[in-house]
Amino acid sequence: MSEIKKKLTDYFRQQGELYPAEYFFDKMPGILRTPSSVSSENPNFISNFQRLDEEAKNCFACDLAQTRTNVVFGDGNPNTNLLFIGEAPGENEDLQGKAFVGRAGKLLDDLLKEIGLNRSHVYIANIVKCRPPANRQPVPAEVNACIHFLLHQIEFIQPRMIICLGLVAAKALLKLDLPLGRMRSQVFTFQGIDAMVTYHPAAILRNINLMEAAREDFKKIKQIYQENSGS
Ligand code: SF4
Repeated sequence: MSEIKKKLTDYFRQQGELYPAEYFFDKMPGILRTPSSVSSENPNFISNFQRLDEEAKNCFACDLAQTRTNVVFGDGNPNTNLLFIGEAPGENEDLQGKAFVGRAGKLLDDLLKEIGLNRSHVYIANIVKCRPPANRQPVPAEVNACIHFLLHQIEFIQPRMIICLGLVAAKALLKLDLPLGRMRSQVFTFQGIDAMVTYHPAAILRNINLMEAAREDFKKIKQIYQENSGS
């Protein structure tokens, strides 16, 4: 590598460490709505969203309530146009009451950073809000008991694009029963909202060979979002 190229690489690396993603040239314009535009559409947005969060925290509608430490409602910015949906809280999420923490959360943050975003630009939720014991997949009765919380979150957030992280989210929300490899790069629709599917970060941690495919998917998500939102 030439000396100039090395200096430029070091410079951009430093800038990336010093400044949050919103200062980067390749951010996704229009990813956030201003709170005022949201509240003008729905004046009770914040209080309703918080009320839904409180309702979930006091929910005992399925057996997962017996073994959870915390209910994990979601994380990020509800004024976003980009909503990520995972499967269920894991051990760290259950202990901290926060979505996508630990190694899987860090990996999701890294993938977001590669397309110029961070958590303050997106919202992240799960199909079920309480941890299934030993990180097993949620059973249909648990999904059915919990999905109304997610549907209300979607109704409040009104994203332009939904990203399902993994097969469980794709099956539960989009009613798709295809191998994940066949869903990647396709644009589906959920209630008129563009929806795409990629790997769950925990699956990438179990098989690091999926990382390159996930990177491609995140670039595609950015591209489709920009094309379809005219930004
Ligand atoms: S998983 Fe959902 S439905 Fe079940 S107890 Fe938790 S919040 Fe309630």
